Amino acid sequence: MDMRRPIIAGNWKMNKTVSEAADLVRQLKALVADIRDIDIIVAPTFTALYAVSREIEGSNIALAAQDVFWETSGAYTGEISPTMLRDVGCRYVIIGHSERRQYFGETNEWVHKKIKASLAVGLHPILCVGEALEERETGKTFEVVQNQVFQCLEGFSREEMDKITIAYEPIWAIGTGKTATPQQAEEVHAFIREQLGSITHPQVSEAMRIQYGGSVNPDNIRDLMAQPNIDGALVGGASLTADSFSRIVKCQKT
Ligand code: PEP
Repeated sequence: MDMRRPIIAGNWKMNKTVSEAADLVRQLKALVADIRDIDIIVAPTFTALYAVSREIEGSNIALAAQDVFWETSGAYTGEISPTMLRDVGCRYVIIGHSERRQYFGETNEWVHKKIKASLAVGLHPILCVGEALEERETGKTFEVVQNQVFQCLEGFSREEMDKITIAYEPIWAIGTGKTATPQQAEEVHAFIREQLGSITHPQVSEAMRIQYGGSVNPDNIRDLMAQPNIDGALVGGASLTADSFSRIVKCQKT
C-alpha cells in the first residue's frame, strides 16, 4: 500500500494579474471538484494570493506562496513574512526554487532559514533541489543534490521534517520541454529518500513526499507517477491553464 498521498502543485511563477488568477482557479476548482485523494496546490504571485485564497475557500485546493522571508516583521523592504502568508491563507510555501537560486542568489543557508521560519508558524515548506546541466554532465548530480538536502534540512526535528515536501527539479528540465525520463527521476528520488534516512527517522523518510518538477505535462505525468519514489509533481508552464493542470491532477499513481 502506498502510504504517501500524491501532491500536485502548480507554480504560476511571475504570471497572471489578480483577475486572471481568480479566473484560472475558478475554472480549476470546477474541474477537480471530485478529487479527494490528492493534495492539489496552486502557487500564484504574492499580489494574487488574497483573491485566489477567497476563491478556494472550502474547496479541495490549497494555497502556496512562491517564496518567503525568514523574519516576522520589520525593516525588510519588499519582503513577505511567514506570518503574512498564513494570514492570507497559505498552507504551503515553495522555498529554494532554482530560479530564485539562479537569479536572486539564494543559498542553501538562506533556504534553511526560510524553512525554519515557515515551520515555526505552521506552513508546510516545499523544498526545491536539483542539479544544473553541467553538473549532470560532469557526474555531479548526486553530490549536488546531497549537499542541498543536507544543508537545507540540517538539524530539523522529526516533527519539523514531517511537514516538509521535497521537489526534485533538474534545472535542465525546467521550462525546456526536456523532461527527465521516469528512470532518471526515480534514480534521484530514491537517492534523496536514502539520504533522508541518514538524517532523520526512517519512518519520516519513508513518509516524506518527493515531487518531480521539470516540463511535467498531461502526457508524461502517468509514467513519472508510476515510479515508486515519485509522489507528485511541481508543475510550471502546464499549470497555467485549468485544462492541462486538471488533466495532470487526474493522472493518479498507477
Ligand atoms: C517549475 O517551475 O517548478 C517547473 C517545473 O516549471 P516547468 O513545469 O515549466 O518546467
